[in-house]
Amino acid sequence: MRIVIAGAGAMGSRFGLMLYNAGNDVILIDKWRDHVEAIKKNGLSANINGQRSTTRMPIFYPDEIASNSKPADLIIMFTKAIQLEDMLQSIKPLLGLETMVLCLLNGLGHEDTLARYVPQKNILLGITMWTAGLEGPGKVKLFGTGEVELQNIDAEGEKNAKKIVAELRNAGLNGVYSSNVKYSVWRKACVNGTLNSTCTILNANISELGATTEAIPILKAIISEFTAVAAKEHVILDQKEILQHVVETFDPNGIGLHYPSMHQDLIKNNRLTEIDYINGAVARKGEDYGVPTPYCALLTELIHAKEQILKAK
Ligand code: NAD
Repeated sequence: MRIVIAGAGAMGSRFGLMLYNAGNDVILIDKWRDHVEAIKKNGLSANINGQRSTTRMPIFYPDEIASNSKPADLIIMFTKAIQLEDMLQSIKPLLGLETMVLCLLNGLGHEDTLARYVPQKNILLGITMWTAGLEGPGKVKLFGTGEVELQNIDAEGEKNAKKIVAELRNAGLNGVYSSNVKYSVWRKACVNGTLNSTCTILNANISELGATTEAIPILKAIISEFTAVAAKEHVILDQKEILQHVVETFDPNGIGLHYPSMHQDLIKNNRLTEIDYINGAVARKGEDYGVPTPYCALLTELIHAKEQILKAK
């Protein structure tokens, strides 16, 4: 299968590498100069569960995509949420009538952005539990295991979605065909919406937040706002189950000592965050539906203020 990875940072490198090793014709697209040059010169260096490997893979800058390029069979979007539209613009020449586009970005509302470039029948939405990190240009750290859950957003896309699930399985990426991916996307966004912004504003890891007397009331309020807005889109979240799941993450023997990805983006790497697609999306949708979302709105404003204070890019 001819597969394009649109955004070959941490996650794009993982998926690209695993699909390439399974025998697919994979190309990576990225615009981070040092990273692209390192991969062009030395290949992609990956620390996979402690084992280092180097793989020579084709990687291109967006402006190297020729207007007469052969369309891809599958494009996997792996930019940050704020970069999605820009990337879709760049990859237009690779979008054919039959090109399936799988979006695995965290956050809400990406199907609306995709629909401006891709026919509904070719859009696949998904979430993934795989993780990945960057060690530096051309170097990624791929630890642990995971799964990819995906579904077509239009009934016509089901056959192709199942084909993609099989390809992901073949590459060891543990693809699963979802019967309700909208629920999974909302649930993941809700979990992210509780810990990401709060830990970032408080400059705390998950355990530190969890040990405060304020944590549970704040998390309950955020979850209740996500639930009320999701219900307007016919997605029924289970508040008790989500709260229980989040409370389990406080355990310092589990992931409690970790800082959520938004903290890493903003505090560690001085990068703009995905807040507008998590709590920000709920605040925006809440306004449209007439559902009050004071916690999500304030958290979004505070993260934007912090981005400005830190001059994040
Ligand atoms: P990343 O920043 O490491 O990778 C994004 C890459 O896209 C960068 O290398 C960037 O240069 C490139 N890019 C962005 N816009 C571009 C454009 N217009 N043209 C060319 N290249 C462009 O991010 P990531 O950690 O891989 O995360 C990607 C998505 O996956 C996010 O939505 C994130 O929330 C989600 N996610 C990440 C993880 C994780 O463990 N890292 C896990 C699950 C989900």
